[in-house]
Formats: sequence, C-alpha cells, structure tokens
Amino acid sequence: MHPSSAPTDLQASIIESLQSAKPTLWAGRGAKEQSTHDISPQQVQEAVLRFERFAPLLMKLFPELTASGGRIDSPLLQVPKMQQALQLPPEAGQLWLKADHSLPVAGSVKARGGVHEVLEYAENIALEHGLLADGDYLLLASDAARSVFAQYQVAVGSTGNLGLSIGVMASALGFKAAVHMSADAKEWKKQRLRARGVQVVEHTGDYAMAVAAGRALAEQDPHCHFVDDEHSLSLLLGYAAAAPHLVAQIKESKRAVDETHPLFVYIPCGVGGAPGGVALGLQQAFGPHVHCFFAEPVQSPCFIVEMLAGASALPGLEAHPSVYELGLNNQTEADGLAVPRASELAADVVRGFLGGVFTVEDETLFRHLYLLKNSEGLNIEPSAAAGFSGPRELLQSAAGQDYLQRQNLLAHLPNATHIVWTTGGLFVPDEEYVKFLQRGAALMAA
Ligand SMILES: *Cc1c(COP(=O)(O)O)cnc(C)c1O
Repeated sequence: MHPSSAPTDLQASIIESLQSAKPTLWAGRGAKEQSTHDISPQQVQEAVLRFERFAPLLMKLFPELTASGGRIDSPLLQVPKMQQALQLPPEAGQLWLKADHSLPVAGSVKARGGVHEVLEYAENIALEHGLLADGDYLLLASDAARSVFAQYQVAVGSTGNLGLSIGVMASALGFKAAVHMSADAKEWKKQRLRARGVQVVEHTGDYAMAVAAGRALAEQDPHCHFVDDEHSLSLLLGYAAAAPHLVAQIKESKRAVDETHPLFVYIPCGVGGAPGGVALGLQQAFGPHVHCFFAEPVQSPCFIVEMLAGASALPGLEAHPSVYELGLNNQTEADGLAVPRASELAADVVRGFLGGVFTVEDETLFRHLYLLKNSEGLNIEPSAAAGFSGPRELLQSAAGQDYLQRQNLLAHLPNATHIVWTTGGLFVPDEEYVKFLQRGAALMAA
C-alpha cells in the first residue's frame, strides 16, 4: 500500500460518482489474479461436512426439510423471460438465477451462514458435555441435550434477516436467543422472532450501533455466544459451503465453465460476509474462470469504499471508512443491505480476486422486483433484486468494458453464464410484497 499516493483519475471519478449517489461500477483486479487470503478449501469442506452431519437433526426439527433430507439449499434456474425483460441479448450469454430467496428455515441467504454458526456452536457445546459420545446427532433433540443448550444464549445484531436465521435456528435447538435490531428493521421480522420465543432488543441507531450494543452485552456473559457479522469466520464458511452444491448444479445444467466459457456471479452485499463467502467458495472451485460482482445500494456502498480505502484512493479518510464519510446517508429500502461499514474479514478474503462492486438505485430494485414477478413469477424482497443490474453495468459501463478487455473476455461473452443471486423473500408477508410490486409497477409505467 502507498498511503501517501494520490488517487488516480479513475478512482477520483468513481468517488465523485459514489458521492452523487449515481449507479457506479468499481472493477477489481479480477479473477486472473491469484487470491492471497489464507482460507483453505479444507476449511470450506469442513463447513459442508458439518451441514451433512446435522442433516438428520435438521430434518427432524424442520419438517419443510423432509424432501431435501435435511439439506438447506435452493434451485439454480434459467430465467430466459427475465433475460428478455432486462433486454440482455443472447450474444451477452445466458441469464440464470440462484434462488436463495426461497431457502427454507430462514427465507434468505442468511440460512447458510447463520445456521452454520449456530450449528458449530451447538456442536462444540455438545462435545464438551459428552452429548455426542456415540456420534448420533439426533440425540441433540433429546430433553437432556435441550436442557444443556438452555443454559446458553446466542445473541446477534441484525437489520433483520441474520436475526431471523440465528434466532430461528438457536431457539429450535433450545438455546436462549436474543436479537439486537436497528431502528430500520421491519416490524414483521420482529414479530416473527418473538413468535419463536426469541428476545428482540430494539436500538434507535443504525445497524452498526445495534451490533456494537449487542456485542457489549454479550461480552459480560461467558454463556453467551455473540454472532459477529463483521468478523465471523464461521458465518463466512457457512456461505462458502454453498459453492460445492452450485458447482454440481452448473454441471447438471450442462453449462461449461472454463477459459472460453466465463461465469459471472452477481450477489447483493451488506457487510460482505454472504457475497464474500460465496465468492471464496466459487473461486476455490473455478479459479480464474469465475468473476464475482457484489451489488450495493447507492446510499450504502460500504464494500466499494472499503476496496478503495485499501487501494489508498481515499486520502484523508481513515483506513476502514464508513459511507457517512463520503456524505452518504445509508438510507435504502433494501434493509438487508443497509450497512455503513464493510466486514474487514470479507474484504481481506476477496480483495485479491474480486471482479468488482456496483451500486443500484432503490427505484431500480423495485423495477427489477416487478419484472421478475411478471416474467418468471418469482417473489423476492428489494435487497434480493440488487444483482439484476450487474450484467448491464458490466457490459455497458466504461469500467466494465475495461474489465472485460483486461480479462480477455470480450470474445467469449456469447458462451458466458450470468448467475444473479436472489438472496431473500420467502417469508415477506403478502401485504408487504404487494406494496413492493405496486411500487415497481408504478415506476415501470412512469
Ligand atoms: C444479509 C443479506 C445480504 C448480504 O449479506 P451480507 O453478509 O450482509 O453482505 C443480501 N441479501 C439479503 C436479502 C440479505 O438479508
């Protein structure tokens, strides 16, 4: 790093564009660079195996997992009508969608990271107390095991979806559960948690303040495990465990991923744990042939800001800046993405190979939410729509063209697979969803 170097013209123009809250693409070094993070494929594999060990128990605790044998996963769908609605020509490749908006148990991508961290904590406590002496995970549903778990608490700070996933999983196992929520968290999410016996603690500040308050309370209690969205490796590995199954789904779909068949993946980004974990897993599987792009609201581009700070492009700002320091307000309807400061862990993991990060206006989220319903009949929440502007940003912006050129991808675009990760929506109440849809319809008509 060169702390004293001045920003380049390109960096300066990106910062200017971010500050005026316009849709902006920042392109990274890209997949052809080798990543320097030190998370091994074995660590990701351990998370995969943990989910497998717990599958029989999860099937017992959650009847909706019967069909999948206790596996929490989502389909990979080709979405040709949405491709048409987005006016992406066939020469640009094929549009697919990873349907994490339909993930059982938590109704969002948080079912991956959040469930994994609670399972890891439960497994450690069970081992300590000799509850897994004969390796039968179904015994963890017994009264004896539950009365052990009841002595422990799991706490988390969340805008909503992480709280849902942690709260639901922890209370299903018999833990006490507390979710610290920010003022902008949706009322229905609080109600859903309270109905499960989860303690909801409301804070007046933003997401980062809810996390700080929750962390401070948990630190005083040795029987309390605080799930730290900004620093947790367990969360990140839970998200990364999505990759091996996606690799299998891509194979089943007969889509090639190699030198001449690039894979582009567009994932909504809050602190960066979910997209960071997924990108890590995919990078380990596909190496230089996968190009991951994160999507953020124009008022909450914390991950771009973190990437620029790492590249010393923000002189005068501290090393780990928030979006407020650019004069942005972190206000967005995408409540899952309303995060002022990125996870440094996620940033460090992906910095060496990330394709890029782009920002999206709230109005575009509602348009794309509406188009997806209209074209493919799929219901998602606003945060989950952020990835759909990705292909266009990449193909039409100067920074995107530059990336495609640098990575030698222009000639191979007709063979490309574009996967948009839809990250949440299953549990949005109908009356809320109808309002989203009407907003999208009005914007399309305008
Ligand atoms: C949390 C969330 C994300 C992003 O995950 P981070 O780990 O915060 O980056 C994306 N979409 C939805 C719907 C979410 O709830």
